[in-house]
Amino acid sequence: MQILYDAADALFESQNVSDDALFSVISSDDEKFREYLFEKARSRAVEIFGNKIYTRGLIEFTNYCKNDCLYCGIRRSNKNALRYRLTKDEILECCAEGYELGFRTFVLQGGEDPFYTDELICEIVREIRSGFPDCAITLSIGEKPRESYAAYREAGADRYLLRHETINPKHYSRLHPPELSLENRVRCLRDLKDLGFQVGCGFMVGSPYQTLENLVEDLRFIKDFSPHMIGIGPFIPHTDTPFASKRSGSLELTLVLIAVLRLMNPRALIPATTALGTINPRGRELGVLAGANVVMPNLSPVSVRKKYSLYNNKICTGEEAAECRGCLARRMESIGYELSVSRGDYPG
Ligand code: SAH
Repeated sequence: MQILYDAADALFESQNVSDDALFSVISSDDEKFREYLFEKARSRAVEIFGNKIYTRGLIEFTNYCKNDCLYCGIRRSNKNALRYRLTKDEILECCAEGYELGFRTFVLQGGEDPFYTDELICEIVREIRSGFPDCAITLSIGEKPRESYAAYREAGADRYLLRHETINPKHYSRLHPPELSLENRVRCLRDLKDLGFQVGCGFMVGSPYQTLENLVEDLRFIKDFSPHMIGIGPFIPHTDTPFASKRSGSLELTLVLIAVLRLMNPRALIPATTALGTINPRGRELGVLAGANVVMPNLSPVSVRKKYSLYNNKICTGEEAAECRGCLARRMESIGYELSVSRGDYPG
């Protein structure tokens, strides 16, 4: 037991421990130890970000996808998905509404949808850039050639979210169709960083076939890659996928991993994700109390929210943007935090 507490202290002091120690920490189901770990991680987050929680307005602008990831509800083989696309004007309306509510970062996320050519993406980015000059623009639209990323950057995009999903090639191949490779995923992440984006990687916790050893590999990869943002959340099955009968990832393990990521990467922007809020009604609050410092309320039009269904029972699909922000503000206040009205950039 003492070695666990020593590992937590060493993580706090030196932002690193051996792979063996990481394995022990993430294997522990001792509640007292976990509380200790969360407390360390949360004090590190407060030291850097105070009691301010950064917010990102998430605009899910298309659920068409050319990929067929086995875990994902909007995979191309899901014939039950009701597909939609938002027009440029609809996206700009979401931004305008979001701006009024206090959002200074917009995240455009979608499936890999060839309808949105690089030209169209750049046009959308340029219009958001000129309409909302004090806002950060984040894209989360999957794997592209380096030239495309360069064009998005040139058009004014600041950040890019692309979870690596798992850094173990064998595990990667069990979650994805053969035409997708871990190698290309990592190539994308390196290109994005090289082009000057603030970059986010991350993974699902409890995805099918994942082992604790895999998670140690993910923690090590993230430490080495040193991203600006780290998004993790529990895997949740979607009925219309090959993983329909798999189990959800665990709340406790997700929280432990958030805490370890905070301790290993003190300045990283780490969201308490919607998936975490979906597996537990207080999941996002618990995420913040374990060291997360970002929340990403939904800004998509209510009419499409249910259709952006990556997994079952996703929360906040019936609420207006304003309700979502208000609800999260109250949730954060209930644990002594405040939503920040700022771009919420990487603290450098
Ligand atoms: N097409 C973009 C956006 C993907 S959706 C891209 O490839 O980056 C964003 C994230 O949702 C994914 O990276 C994945 O980690 C997560 N996700 C997908 N299906 C999920 C599921 N069933 N449960 C939990 N998270 C899921």
